Amino acid sequence: MHEGLLPSLYELLQEMGRVNRKMTATPGSCSYEVHISFSSYLSLYKRIMTNNNGEEMKRLLTEMDAVLRLLMNWKKCYHYTIEKYFKVNPSANKPDCGSVCSACNGEVKKYTGLLYQPQLMSVLATNVKSSNPLTPAAFMKLLKANKINIFHADHIPKTSTVRYHMLARQMVANDIIHLEMINNSKVGTNKITNNDFHITLPNTKYADGLSFSAYMISSSDNYMTTIENNAGQDVI
Ligand SMILES: [Zn+2]
Repeated sequence: MHEGLLPSLYELLQEMGRVNRKMTATPGSCSYEVHISFSSYLSLYKRIMTNNNGEEMKRLLTEMDAVLRLLMNWKKCYHYTIEKYFKVNPSANKPDCGSVCSACNGEVKKYTGLLYQPQLMSVLATNVKSSNPLTPAAFMKLLKANKINIFHADHIPKTSTVRYHMLARQMVANDIIHLEMINNSKVGTNKITNNDFHITLPNTKYADGLSFSAYMISSSDNYMTTIENNAGQDVI
């Protein structure tokens, strides 16, 4: 089991491989789990930003994003996505594992919360402005304050904060929100704190030409991947 976001898919693959090093286990009897939180994403992001080599920093950010996108996209078999990334099977005809990974066996979806995307979009559009930068902590507060509008009635989180963290990560992985540094002067130093980041909305159009709000409204799938992990300590 790995606590926290792994820096690259390569490291994820290596750790996964160690689970069944002796190759004696029957398929599915050994498991490898990754538990991540929005805080662990922030921690890794902060660590990368202490790098004073711009090119290296970019490379590390790209690798981190690939891991986040993999874990947050439960619609595609994790094994398939990893193999495709490393071009193990370039023909990409390999079928999904079917039942071994938590994307395929429905484990992940089991923990998803239903939410109203147009309402979420409206909360973001009204509150996330460049004139009023929101720190990650303030952003989490915003989601909590609007939980009744955002989540379907029987999916509103009660005491656990896990679902908010999952929602925030999901939005980052899908480019719905961005996490940026407020003050670039700290980049390359180890003085960066969570409060040096703020949440922004992408001002670019999506590949299909839709703007941010149109994208949110047109998106037919209103299940966000909210994995309830055992991290009750998921607090920023
Ligand atoms: Zn699978």
